[in-house]
Amino acid sequence: MSNHLSNRITNMSTSATLAMAAKARELRNSGKDIIGLSLGEPDFNIPDFIKDAAKQAIDDNYSSYSPVDGYADLKQSIANKFKRDNNLTYGLNQIVVSTGAKQSLANIAMCMLNKGDEVILPAPYWVSYSDIVKLAEGTPVEVPTSIDTDFKMTPAQLEAAITPNTKMMWFSSPCNPSGSVYSKEELEGLAEVLKKHPNIYVVSDEIYEHINFRGGHVSIAGIDGMYNRTITVNGVSKAFAMTGWRIGYIGAPESIAKACTKFQGQNTSGANAIAQRATIAALDAPVSKIQFMIDEFHKRRDLILELLGEIEGFKLNVPEGAFYVFPDISDFFGKTLNGTTINTASDFSMYLLENANVATVTGEAFGNPNCIRISYAAAEKELREAVSRIKAVL
Ligand code: PMP
Ligand code: GLU
Repeated sequence: MSNHLSNRITNMSTSATLAMAAKARELRNSGKDIIGLSLGEPDFNIPDFIKDAAKQAIDDNYSSYSPVDGYADLKQSIANKFKRDNNLTYGLNQIVVSTGAKQSLANIAMCMLNKGDEVILPAPYWVSYSDIVKLAEGTPVEVPTSIDTDFKMTPAQLEAAITPNTKMMWFSSPCNPSGSVYSKEELEGLAEVLKKHPNIYVVSDEIYEHINFRGGHVSIAGIDGMYNRTITVNGVSKAFAMTGWRIGYIGAPESIAKACTKFQGQNTSGANAIAQRATIAALDAPVSKIQFMIDEFHKRRDLILELLGEIEGFKLNVPEGAFYVFPDISDFFGKTLNGTTINTASDFSMYLLENANVATVTGEAFGNPNCIRISYAAAEKELREAVSRIKAVL
């Protein structure tokens, strides 16, 4: 039979985070006692005041298509949030609500990239950036960083990666998967380089902004000279534990917001109406309402670092945000454990799944072949059990 699928989809990688989560689910269904630390998903329930707003929206018959770019009052709440939390001023014509930050990112790629445009991705980067860029016929340019610089890109590295074809740079802070948080000074350093290259745009993915243990989240759009060339991406999946409700949004120069709306109008027609109404309640609430989740992640971060720190061969940075640790496990390469030779981070992650029944994600999916990602968005008991199993099989 001839190949009936497009080259586009044939050449695309499957999301490694979602694939590992599916594998863990499958093994669990077959009776195995799997601890899933692969998916970046808060394990809290959605706060009641947000659920109540969704129930109210159903009763109020929010059942029709919303405006493609989102309800105006939701966009006002987003504008208020940008002002309150980030000191950024975005008009409603600069805001687009989408089906998750993932769609926001896909919209940007489809609206801004032409074939061959280069997108700088400081590695490790979030798993989907590279394939989203490729789907839009852009060329990802990975800039490898290491644990020695806390997995952050330096201005000199950025400068060296820029070519006449560079169109954009995409990054997340706090970073998925490394948990690294860029300081104001570090962002100013990158902005200084970009000043010399006025045609390069920045996608600043700030979906973990509240899950920041050092405090003081900084948006690169607020740095001198960056506002008109930055697309600030955010969403409610992480801060409000609303992953399945699928709401993300951008603040961007008006022409880009307009293009994303046009594109979305031919794709999804806009985000889910009920979830949009609930998002108003989420964003209007003071951050103090979700502080308990942030405090809990902080405690778990300390716990997992302490526990993993006891395993010989794990090199760890101290993640200052998000809910992942990204240990460098390259010390194990070339070793044989219980009859399995470990040559890559994928081998290591698979070994943990098959022998310790613990699901993690290989760093290769995030552009770093020496590390694995462990999500600590799980109960303390599970984290303790997972690390003790890992220790036992190593
Ligand atoms: N960016 C980063 C850095 C993420 O970790 C995620 C994970 N969900 C997303 C974007 C996409 O989030 P959403 O659920 O809003 O699509
Ligand atoms: N962003 C989460 C993660 O990195 C959720 C999975 C996904 O959307 O890929 O695990």
